[in-house]
Amino acid sequence: NSKGTANWVSWQLKRSWLGSVDRCGGFSPDSALPSNFNIVRPNDYSGSGFSRGHMTRSGDRSNNQTDNCATFLMTNILPQTQDQNGGPWLELEDLSRDLAQQGKELYIIAGPAGEGGTGTKGFAEKIGKGKVTVPASLWKIVVVLDKPRLRLKGMTDKTRVIAVDMPNITGIQKKSYKDYLTTVDELEKLTGYDFLSDVPEVLQAALEAKKDDQ
Ligand code: MN
Ligand code: MN
Repeated sequence: NSKGTANWVSWQLKRSWLGSVDRCGGFSPDSALPSNFNIVRPNDYSGSGFSRGHMTRSGDRSNNQTDNCATFLMTNILPQTQDQNGGPWLELEDLSRDLAQQGKELYIIAGPAGEGGTGTKGFAEKIGKGKVTVPASLWKIVVVLDKPRLRLKGMTDKTRVIAVDMPNITGIQKKSYKDYLTTVDELEKLTGYDFLSDVPEVLQAALEAKKDDQ
């Protein structure tokens, strides 16, 4: 509520979520928020120099209209520079979709860190008349399970985990997500969260210290 954004968003991605419905008509305020919350509206981003960046990608929920429209709720949206949104962030989204199309089951977590980014209208800490905090960076963790439905049983110390932390700035459209690879350990330090907390400790320690190199 104090930031006007989610702290994190998490979702599963596999082939069965993918389809071909049209993108939802537009962005909406999230009416599920408590009534005393500061409700963020789509036009709080208008003219800000930052795009309405989806965390769960619209295309990751494309087999029915209801699921697709849920990705357009403002609680799934962060102020993200267009260069990041359409550059390295998109590249990792495309890779994730490719992996899902290959039959893999992905668990994805994404969110904001810090305060203050540089969009097309320059540096800003807040937008929407102070309602929405602009993150300094956006991070994401993608856990790639080779086979669906095994959940924790499908995880080994060879499980691919892709962790990135991308600065919320302009001029990075030609960069690769690989330029921003980090470890889950680093993201835990950055955010204060314990990610993958249901994974047994020993495995968690191994996977969280590893930087993806594929
Ligand atoms: Mn996007
Ligand atoms: Mn952890």
